[in-house]
Amino acid sequence: MMKYAIDLHIHTCLSPCGDIDMTPNNIVNMSGIKGLDIIAVTDHNAAGNCAAVIEAASGSDLMVVPGMELCTADEIHLLCYFPDTDTALGFQDEVFKNLLPVKNREDVFGRQIYMNSLDEETGTEDRFLIGASMIPTLDAILMARSMGGAVLPAHVDRESFSMLNTFGFIPEEYGFKYLECSRNCQLDSFLRERADLRRYDFIRSSDAHYLQDILERESWLELEEKSVECLLDRINGITADK
Ligand SMILES: [Zn+2]
Ligand SMILES: [Zn+2]
Repeated sequence: MMKYAIDLHIHTCLSPCGDIDMTPNNIVNMSGIKGLDIIAVTDHNAAGNCAAVIEAASGSDLMVVPGMELCTADEIHLLCYFPDTDTALGFQDEVFKNLLPVKNREDVFGRQIYMNSLDEETGTEDRFLIGASMIPTLDAILMARSMGGAVLPAHVDRESFSMLNTFGFIPEEYGFKYLECSRNCQLDSFLRERADLRRYDFIRSSDAHYLQDILERESWLELEEKSVECLLDRINGITADK
């Protein structure tokens, strides 16, 4: 077992609220400077920049996991991670079919920029990515897992778009082993208030929309080997942490 420094919640410039500087190479380089071993790319309701970030990291020691931060019909943010970019894009196809039929307004929400691995703009997305999809939460979880993915409820300690705040609890039948807590969560005092959550393990990630917010070596995950497969198995609770 090896311990890896992780940040599994990073937005690129494809997210309308993501800073323009969140380009593939900037994310990879900043993650390298911060000393991270594994990151995940999780744009709102989209996975179109995952491949570019993975390619930008090729040849470095940084492992990049393709992912998405899906907003379900219940207005809950779910971090979905996938074994490869093709699977992430297949999941995205289903999500795109279930977005509200409205266009993004760049002047209000921001631009949604596609980039290649050289940080060149290759287009913009005009779907309304920042809104809720029409996929019910349980359907989304089962769909991601059926495609070989793993799911983490995002920032459960926060007020907005969190499963805990929306439902009031984490449904046991969802089968989570891990929950995400946000970068500044005081986990000890949080769990003192929510003793029902002590049976979960927590993964702390940044939810970075700006380069400087990417985590340093402060959030850790033990894996048998540094592979996407191992990481997905761990989040799915297939492999134990000891
Ligand atoms: Zn979120
Ligand atoms: Zn986010």
